[in-house]
Amino acid sequence: MTGMWDQYAGNIAFVGMAIAIWAHLSIWFGRKSAQRTRTYFSVMFGLAAGTTAIGSILLAVEASPGIFVDLRHAPLALAALFGGPAAALVSGAMVVAMRVWVGGAGMFDGLATVAMIAAIGLAVNTGMRKRQPRILDLFLTTAGLGAVLAVALMVLPTIAAADLLRLAGPELILLNCGATFLGGLILFMTRRTELERSILETAFSQSPDFIYVKDRNSRFLTVNDNMAKLYDAGSAGALVGRSDFDVMPRGQAEQIFLAEQEMMRAGGQIVDSFEQINQRFLLASKVPLRDREGRIVGLAGVTRDITERTTLENELRESKNLLALAMAGMSDGFAMFGRDGRLIFCNEQYRAAFPLSADTRVPGMHMRDILRRVAETRERAQLPEGSVEDWINAGADALHTSKDEEVELYNGDWRSIRTRQTDDGTVMIVVSDITANKHAETALRIAAEQLRNLADTDGLTGVLNRRAFDEAFLREAASSARDGTPLSVLMIDIDWFKAYNDTYGHPAGDECLRQVSRCLLDGIRRSGDLVARYGGEEFVVLLPAGDARQARMVADQVSARLVERALVHSGSPLGHLTVSIGMATGQGPALRANSSLLLATADGALYDAKAQGRNRAAEREFVSGSTALAG
Ligand code: GH3
Ligand code: MG
Ligand code: MG
Repeated sequence: MTGMWDQYAGNIAFVGMAIAIWAHLSIWFGRKSAQRTRTYFSVMFGLAAGTTAIGSILLAVEASPGIFVDLRHAPLALAALFGGPAAALVSGAMVVAMRVWVGGAGMFDGLATVAMIAAIGLAVNTGMRKRQPRILDLFLTTAGLGAVLAVALMVLPTIAAADLLRLAGPELILLNCGATFLGGLILFMTRRTELERSILETAFSQSPDFIYVKDRNSRFLTVNDNMAKLYDAGSAGALVGRSDFDVMPRGQAEQIFLAEQEMMRAGGQIVDSFEQINQRFLLASKVPLRDREGRIVGLAGVTRDITERTTLENELRESKNLLALAMAGMSDGFAMFGRDGRLIFCNEQYRAAFPLSADTRVPGMHMRDILRRVAETRERAQLPEGSVEDWINAGADALHTSKDEEVELYNGDWRSIRTRQTDDGTVMIVVSDITANKHAETALRIAAEQLRNLADTDGLTGVLNRRAFDEAFLREAASSARDGTPLSVLMIDIDWFKAYNDTYGHPAGDECLRQVSRCLLDGIRRSGDLVARYGGEEFVVLLPAGDARQARMVADQVSARLVERALVHSGSPLGHLTVSIGMATGQGPALRANSSLLLATADGALYDAKAQGRNRAAEREFVSGSTALAG
């Protein structure tokens, strides 16, 4: 019996060794032909597994007379687990071919077992969904294999008939499971090492840094691709065996060489030492490499290219200086707020533009705090009546919308505040002092007002002139017609005025015109009523929303005022100055149809008053279609 287990051990050793060999070959193979496809590797894997299985069959141990035990199942399961379908197919086919070639009883049962084993490995392989196998996958496959073998021994007819289960069952199952697990472990470890190695290699070759190992004499043992590029060496291999003296000016190489030799002698490190090679700025860090006995045999170095960073830093510093200079020199205030509403940066002019809240206008302060100070100090001329807190919140929320504002300060100064939002959410604010502009604007507005008044008034009497009256009349006629309210007109003409001029002279006549216009102004009552000089010594009074009764009242008032003034007029048959008044009142559709007819009607009434002996008011009815011709 001992002899038999020796043979089993020999078989297991063979399978283990075969698997170890194809694990190593696969690494070597994979490195040599990196461009091959997955299927190619899978097929190669299958061939290796099939060969191992066949080897195991050839080394089969005779457990009892006529009953042979071998380890063919282990490589089959591993091929399926690690190599996938192609590997399972190739190795399975090889074993099947071998089995058919050997022939004999129970062939079909043997083939069925092979298929089931491969299926177990494939099932676990599929479950992994392309990831690398884990220990658990190996456990599952081993357990599955054991179960399949046990079932096959019990169920498959020729095998069951041969009583294989009893004669060699435990050995068969145990040995195959053991070989599967052992072989799987070897493959598993190899894969992991290979993966780590490839990660390291990728990191080494693809690193944006320059990585190198040098021997005790500072000669390159290995460098990465980037390093080769830095020295225009063509390939990394071209640098091996050479030293810094071959790739850079002597003085520089000597400096680096001495530093490295000193480091290796003293056993220290070089951290971030500055080197300048081929117009590039570099930061080099180096550590000594030791052998197993602790002797320093070389060094490993990583050098970072900081050219871009250095250039950028220089540019940034320059532009920062320039910006600060520009900010300090500009006449406007400038401030920048972050997305969070806090002040990032501002110039002195910005603070000076708001003297009462300047102490809160410093970096880090929130817009809310600044506005609160504005409210506290009443820095703004117009602060809201309602809740100050609401005003502060609204102001802080509005910070992130682009807008132009003009605000008046407590002392009458004005500021223009231009707020602009940038794409990244930062807010730029430019504040200008527009006090002078604002004051000029106000002065201009007053002047324009005065000019307009001047253009509207009669120079001699100060009442509205004819042009202003015509405008006012058209406007009032339209609104009366629209609103259905009455509109009354009084035409006033001084009696015997030519004689007045002749008697007292033209300047006295002018003064008389002024006196009459005073009486007219005193005669009107309501705010909308207006008095105008219609021409020469003729005046007109317009009473918006005034009916005939109100027109009559105004006429009476005017006469009474004149009587009060008692202006002597020796040229008049009455002995004192009098006026004649013609009145007309329009309303509704008639007014809308022909508003100028209202003036003609009043003029007609004036004619009537003159004809009736002067010093009186006469009225004519305003009827659309009728005209002053009636007089
Ligand atoms: P009646 O009672 O019919 O109105 O007679 P009247 O003399 O007032 O009528 P008329 O229209 O003939 O005379 C108007 C005079 O008013 C003629 C003109 O010398 C005088 N007049 C017109 N404008 C001015 C002015 O601006 N200043 C002075 N002083 N006189 C003026
Ligand atoms: Mg006249
Ligand atoms: Mg007159």
